[in-house]
Amino acid sequence: MDAHTHSPEPPEITAVIPAFNEEQGIDACAAAVRAALEGAQASFELIFIDDGSSDGTWDRIERCHRHDPRVKGLRLSRNFGKEAAMLAGLEAARGRAILTLDADLQHPPSLIPEMIRTWRAGGVQVVDAVKRSRGGEPFLRRLGSRLYNRMALMATGVELEDSSDFKLFDREVAAALLAMGERRRFFRGMAVWAGFSHARIEFDVGGRAAGSSKWSFRGLVWMAWKTIVSYSAAPLRIIHAASASFLILAVALFIRAMQLWLTGRAVSGFTTVIILLLIVGGLMLFCLAVIAEYIMAIYDEVKARPHYLLRERLD
Ligand code: UDP
Ligand code: MG
Repeated sequence: MDAHTHSPEPPEITAVIPAFNEEQGIDACAAAVRAALEGAQASFELIFIDDGSSDGTWDRIERCHRHDPRVKGLRLSRNFGKEAAMLAGLEAARGRAILTLDADLQHPPSLIPEMIRTWRAGGVQVVDAVKRSRGGEPFLRRLGSRLYNRMALMATGVELEDSSDFKLFDREVAAALLAMGERRRFFRGMAVWAGFSHARIEFDVGGRAAGSSKWSFRGLVWMAWKTIVSYSAAPLRIIHAASASFLILAVALFIRAMQLWLTGRAVSGFTTVIILLLIVGGLMLFCLAVIAEYIMAIYDEVKARPHYLLRERLD
């Protein structure tokens, strides 16, 4: 079949939905998103990206595709992470606007018609759905994400407070996001960084429809650290500040030591020496570790491997 015969017109909206082990959620998600888009009288395509699931996620996507060819699927060769999955969807999207949301229905599809109306009204290129409340997230995790957003703001100047990956944006913005060639991607941060005109719509995060969150505490902390290193040189600047203060301290101690030596009272404590040694040694190791992180980040970028590999596609 000619490539152009089955898809003459690009749809108005492409929904990009990453899914990792969401077999219980796919059908409900497809139905809810389809209903919302039909309700908004939009022509659409729906792209599920199976991010290397080990359960029946891909079978469900295939079944949805057989029922409704507007549902399409990309299957990655293994689990590459949500960012890579979203990128794969973005690259395949043909819509005039792109809608990104999670497969677990924590991003309520009931918001979609309003997002589309806002975008259609013109004037804004990005419609952000922002979290008014965080459905049943444990206290520690909520505190953690607050802290992280604060840190991210200080380090990168990018305001992430309550933002989510639930967005509707037009082609131009998608092209800008795709043009950012970095390996370590962070969709939310990049969408803010890119600028354009944004509108905000608030929503309450519900509980997951099915399955469980794919994030462990360790995973979140690691992700937080990685994104800071990838988007900001602030830790390097902190090292500068720390070394400057140590230099001042060193000069002061040197003067004091000389003074003691000159006045013949130089039998000073062993403890002081040990403590200073430990502090300086520890600080130097820590600084090296931070620099090593940046080298790792550079290494990742320089290798320039593909962000993901496709195993199969349904279109
Ligand atoms: N996800 C993915 N790859 C992963 C982890 C998650 O594609 O490696 C998808 C997942 O299927 C869901 C979305 O990303 O659609 C958000 O994941 P999750 O619900 O686990 O995160 P949370 O809502 O807890 O932040
Ligand atoms: Mg979720």
